[in-house]
Amino acid sequence: MPAKWLELPYAAEASPGVWVVAVPIPDNPLRYVLVYAVASGDGVVLVDAGWGAAVSFEALREGLTAGGIGLDAVRGVVVTHLHPDHYGLAGRLHEETGCWVAMHPADAGLIDARYRRREEMRRLNRAWLVAAGAPAAEVEDTAESMAVLATMSVVDPDVLLEHGDNVPLTGRTLRAVHTPGHTPGHLCLYDPDAGILFSGDHLLPRITPNIGYHTQSDPDPLADYLASLRATLDYGEPLVLPGHENRFRGLADRVAALTAHHEERLDHVEALVRAGARTAWEVCHSVEWAVPRGPRYVQRSALAEAYAHLIHLETRNRLRRSGTAPQIWTVAT
Ligand SMILES: [Zn+2]
Repeated sequence: MPAKWLELPYAAEASPGVWVVAVPIPDNPLRYVLVYAVASGDGVVLVDAGWGAAVSFEALREGLTAGGIGLDAVRGVVVTHLHPDHYGLAGRLHEETGCWVAMHPADAGLIDARYRRREEMRRLNRAWLVAAGAPAAEVEDTAESMAVLATMSVVDPDVLLEHGDNVPLTGRTLRAVHTPGHTPGHLCLYDPDAGILFSGDHLLPRITPNIGYHTQSDPDPLADYLASLRATLDYGEPLVLPGHENRFRGLADRVAALTAHHEERLDHVEALVRAGARTAWEVCHSVEWAVPRGPRYVQRSALAEAYAHLIHLETRNRLRRSGTAPQIWTVAT
């Protein structure tokens, strides 16, 4: 069965007891993040919070109101991962409603360095860009481009959810499923009774989730992601409620397609190194899927994705690297 896309309006019932609101991400090609309100006793628990802008907060408030849900009914927010489109409004929701905030500890542990110590993050980004072979003229602007994303109110989680833990909910079982790859602490949430998987950015129906290296990544994020994809098959064929686009069915087909996509890219990256590309920058600038377009942070994310594939080819003993500034990639045999 091919992955089936089920269209919903901007605020609607996604499944019994689950209200969904499309919260806008201003000036971003993704357009919106899907925030889910799961009924819990006399209130709701949100899955993800939305982008940390005033316009996004108002859209969330209106979308919840359309479902008869006041902000005072929000008891908690489970953040699937620490990217600003999912985590951005968690701080404001916490301040305005007193709700708890839950995350996986692996992402919770990255908040301080990423969002509070930005100068240190810039320094690490610059060092990584040099290692990846970015020309000197590009390094400063590209490192700086990440800072514009981090404009939200920063909050530390009150609740840490490990793999297998239950979300504090009344009247429903929602189990944390650790799915590292997109981020080290990415969480999906599984409801075994309703047959629902909230998938965050781990599985999207049409977009390929970005699996890129970050200075805060695990050493081989693509290895993590491919393992997490395989692990997701244990949950059968649930209704998948993703963080972007729309709900869908056809999990196993989507997992197969995403796995095949990355295997193709691995082959392609290896072929480019065989053909003479020496650095991540050169790889990124010689493949069509990674040709940097759009704003700087999109270009940086294309480079990060090429770099993640190079690292995974090293793990598989197909490539090796030498040197540091920049790192030079060669075929392993
Ligand atoms: Zn996202």
